[in-house]
Amino acid sequence: MQLPGDVAEVLETSYREVNVQVPLRRDDGSLLVAQGYRVQHNGARGPYKGGLRYHPEADLQEIRALAALMTWKTALLDLPFGGAKGGIQVDPTQLSARELQSLTRTFALSLSHVLGAYRDIPAPDVNTNAQVMAWFMDAYSSRHGYTPAAVTGKPVELGGAPGREPATGRGLVYVVSAAARRWGWDLAGRRVVIEGFGNVGSWVAREFAALGARVIAVSDVHGGVFNDTGLDVAGLVDAVARGGSVRDADVAFTPISGEELLTLDCDVLVPAALGGSITAANATSINASVVAEGANHPVTPDADSILADRGVRVIPDILANGGGVTGSYFEWTQNIQQFQWREERFNTELRDRLERAHTAVAEYAESNGCTYRLAAYAIALGRVGSAVRTRGYI
Ligand code: GLU
Repeated sequence: MQLPGDVAEVLETSYREVNVQVPLRRDDGSLLVAQGYRVQHNGARGPYKGGLRYHPEADLQEIRALAALMTWKTALLDLPFGGAKGGIQVDPTQLSARELQSLTRTFALSLSHVLGAYRDIPAPDVNTNAQVMAWFMDAYSSRHGYTPAAVTGKPVELGGAPGREPATGRGLVYVVSAAARRWGWDLAGRRVVIEGFGNVGSWVAREFAALGARVIAVSDVHGGVFNDTGLDVAGLVDAVARGGSVRDADVAFTPISGEELLTLDCDVLVPAALGGSITAANATSINASVVAEGANHPVTPDADSILADRGVRVIPDILANGGGVTGSYFEWTQNIQQFQWREERFNTELRDRLERAHTAVAEYAESNGCTYRLAAYAIALGRVGSAVRTRGYI
């Protein structure tokens, strides 16, 4: 794509990286001092946008990589946003609800000077949800006045958009369906394997099952479940809604390990857990025709080349999971207008945006003889680079 060197140079680093101390007085009286981050990678196309992740591995390096991915994702989806990411390096499963709320409020207040509806808009990511966004929005609003548009992924009764919660998983299935139509595939009866059963994985499972595909295996941090004739997805969702693991579900399955799950013979493999699950060590054992990245960077660069050489098609994260931030964009516009769309409108607009991005990527890949990932990056980098120049930033 011949990206000019000066443009490449500004895109290689972040605009701003904030590291804050987040002290928490635990329920037992002890003190935990966690590290919190917000990285604003590039804002040429609009306010910074991206999720907040609470995870022991959410360090500055990881948040920085995820922030850059948001810049490419919002550009590819043609949303008027830049890219950011944040998080707290903590294991939230060890915290009580009171501790989680306190940590979130302290974090929100310590970052509030770099955030805002036209500055930087956080959203949920790994281990954060609508409740965490409600606390975050409340803390932000206590300092700046009621500002629902400063955060997305909120509960529907507090300015959240009906459809936002399923949007990432549903969007992934819209993108795979569009790709399948282009390749002349019928998704009914296809074998689907999903790594991760959080917000993304569980909605991917529901939406594929609704299309008549066969979800043969899913996993969470406790391990995987397999059933060659198709798992009862509703039963799995019930078990997780009750606070359990997919392994606790009252459905017919054989237990399998997370590593075995990745190598199952299937049509579509959806890594929807954390980054780096498909590496050079296991890429040669992947037995899928298509890998659709529900998580952010689940396939390492080495593994990506191995999969391309083996003819496994990869639908990259910035396209496959772009339904989440697209849904956030709809939520933000509704908050600004103080107007709520019905979920049908949300889903129609979501499908339309994702199909347009998919077509752009597929056409670029076909005319340049490259992978979908290269095509997606070329389109995104071109848009960001042109905004950087046109705004006169460099
Ligand atoms: N955390 C999601 C992502 O990685 C959504 C970000 C957002 O809605 O701002 O794309």
